[in-house]
Amino acid sequence: MARVLRVARSPSLFGLGSRFYSTSAEISQASPFLHGGGASRVLAKDRNVQWVFLGCPGVGKGTYASRLSTLLGVPHIATGDLVREELASSGPLSRQLSEIVNQGKLVSDEIIVNLLSKRLEAGEAKGESGFILDGFPRTMRQAEILGDVTDIDLVVNLKLPEEVLVDKCLGRRTCNQCGKGFNVAHINLKGENGKPTISMDPLLPPPQCMSKLITRADDTEEVVKARLRIYNETSQPLEEYYRSKGKLMEFDLPGGIPESWPRLLEALRLDDYEEKQSAAA
Ligand code: AMP
Repeated sequence: MARVLRVARSPSLFGLGSRFYSTSAEISQASPFLHGGGASRVLAKDRNVQWVFLGCPGVGKGTYASRLSTLLGVPHIATGDLVREELASSGPLSRQLSEIVNQGKLVSDEIIVNLLSKRLEAGEAKGESGFILDGFPRTMRQAEILGDVTDIDLVVNLKLPEEVLVDKCLGRRTCNQCGKGFNVAHINLKGENGKPTISMDPLLPPPQCMSKLITRADDTEEVVKARLRIYNETSQPLEEYYRSKGKLMEFDLPGGIPESWPRLLEALRLDDYEEKQSAAA
């Protein structure tokens, strides 16, 4: 665990340097969601956002974290991507990781913190600051390690009913040439017992990607169900942890990207962000 402990004690590994926030007043000013003020609050601060996306496998963390990272100009760091890169590299960890990942289990805290720390160090060397983390933390230990090295401004918890999550994971496809993600699932969950109807159109690939689509090895029904069970057991306690710190924003996705994206921006008070940014330029 030497590396983990080193990570836990070294804020500079997370690329914060002198912009490290130490008081709750500073954090509160930096968080547009928690304290209002909309985009101007984000623009006024001298450091970029440090956000975490929580949510079950398949909920769309990657999609929304990636869009927000483009909007806010911070890196989107998905630990699942770091794991898949390591798997593809056929490095020393690769065989050990593939067994774990293909069963839907979690990689050890030590390995994942090590991968994340390397990614953050590489980003820091390139001048990156701030981040939107997707898929990390996944255990209380990971949350504690993160909390030891930096202050998270906001944790966005994306939610969808479980039936939708399974169908969405089974419908996920990636083009092995351009790397873009698509989804071939037609979701239409009728609302009942006060719950809204959720429908999502498939996100189909353009013709040039059609013959190059691949499915993630861990997106089979059996493995998706195992991942959901593990999420509920291991990661759900994180919701309470961040809720008790006043950092959790719950967001029930109302449908696909066209309905959800504007609503998410509104919830984050970022709906006027682009306008404010061009006015300030
Ligand atoms: P994801 O793409 O987030 O679903 O991650 C794919 C797989 O990578 C997971 O099923 C885990 O095996 C592993 N993984 C990703 N992030 C973590 C994490 N924070 N802790 C442990 N394992 C992880």
